[in-house]
Amino acid sequence: MKTLLHNLVISGKGNERRPAQLLVEGEQIGAVLKPGEVVSADTRLDLRGALVLPGVIDGHVHFDDPGFTQREDFATGTRAAAAGGVTMVVDMPCTSLPPVTSAENLQTKLEIIAPKAHVDFMLWGGVSGNVLENADWKDQVEGLVDAGVAAIKIYLLSGMDTFRDVTPEQAQIVLELTTRRGLPVGVHAEDRQVVEAARSAARARGGDSPLDYASARPAEAEISAARTLRTLCRKTGARIHIVHIASWEALDIVTEARSEGLPLSAETCPHYLLFTDADLKRLGALLKTAPVVKSQRDREGLWRGLETGEILYVASDHAAGVWPEEKNTGSIWTDYGGVPGVELLLPTLFSEGVAKGRITLERLVEITSRAPADFFGVGRRKGRIEKGYDADFSVINEHSTWTVRAEELHNKNRYTPLEDMALKGRIQETWVRGRRVFVRDEVGRETFAERAPGRFIRRGGSS
Ligand SMILES: [Zn+2]
Repeated sequence: MKTLLHNLVISGKGNERRPAQLLVEGEQIGAVLKPGEVVSADTRLDLRGALVLPGVIDGHVHFDDPGFTQREDFATGTRAAAAGGVTMVVDMPCTSLPPVTSAENLQTKLEIIAPKAHVDFMLWGGVSGNVLENADWKDQVEGLVDAGVAAIKIYLLSGMDTFRDVTPEQAQIVLELTTRRGLPVGVHAEDRQVVEAARSAARARGGDSPLDYASARPAEAEISAARTLRTLCRKTGARIHIVHIASWEALDIVTEARSEGLPLSAETCPHYLLFTDADLKRLGALLKTAPVVKSQRDREGLWRGLETGEILYVASDHAAGVWPEEKNTGSIWTDYGGVPGVELLLPTLFSEGVAKGRITLERLVEITSRAPADFFGVGRRKGRIEKGYDADFSVINEHSTWTVRAEELHNKNRYTPLEDMALKGRIQETWVRGRRVFVRDEVGRETFAERAPGRFIRRGGSS
């Protein structure tokens, strides 16, 4: 089966849009052609001048399945992904029961989620304080690596009893093992002692406002953890990746480390690029996350880091609480921390980044597709529009403007700090391995593929 997509543009250098035709053969890209080049095809589709990007990979989502499916499940999460132009998600190991901390748990999870996946997915494996209590924890981690996890996740500060944090000393032992197996380690990088001291001080004052919560998670917590990880990088040579960085000073430490030749990198999330503590004050729990949004200076530093390449990629950290109950508990301290964002990742980066001239289209492709594909070890089949690559496409109508409404999103619990924000660029279609999994037509009608064609992709690229 050959399908020719025509009347479209693909991205080139800088902000270049290159008119092209794409021949899809089965699940792969058969050819990238110039407009008008004659080729035989079974079907031809006119994309009405849309911009076709390599499929977006969201490297950090919490889809909670199985175990916390009142918050999200794999069907709703991946439908939202498809509607947002995301063609592959990488799900975190900590927010399901059982957590993905052994090959056996991974298999249990896979049987439940694989039939529900509307887009491709990879799985992070995890090493928690709980796991380290088992005498055979090293075998567990080896088992995860053999099962094809995308990378390993640890927390230097965790609020979850089912997935506790590790000390820097424990982290070092884990890093020695993962380095031997050639796997990167993603770290929730906030210093536990710094946060505990700041939180005690805020609670002792009796504070219960969004800014009291922010004061309990100061930038110093991220900065101190980044220093710890730089030291661990020096000691072990481990490939360490700081997830959801929010502090520009912490990012500076990552940049310095890399100039020393250390394999340290960082990702950030749209909420840190869009909002500051002034918005947290206004929006309250709706914008509660960990780390917390920071100052205007941090926000600007993160945008700069995106354009210069100091930040490797952007992920949503999609994490939804039960709405409205878990976000309105009566106290900022007990309100659920996390925002759903998989569907808005590409639209916000396109609108606030490319359309506003903060980053080029070329950088957008790097930070949403190419860099995560390489990071998760699937850069030879995903992340590029080239012959032989998976036919994963995020198709954008660049000229369409729209307004974000939580009730129109597709994940399970619909709330967003972006409510009422006007965005430029609307997702028109999403393709996963040669199948159109989502279409939004000219009058806004939305259609999802009937079957859920998403597949488990192992590190290294086999599925
Ligand atoms: Zn997360």
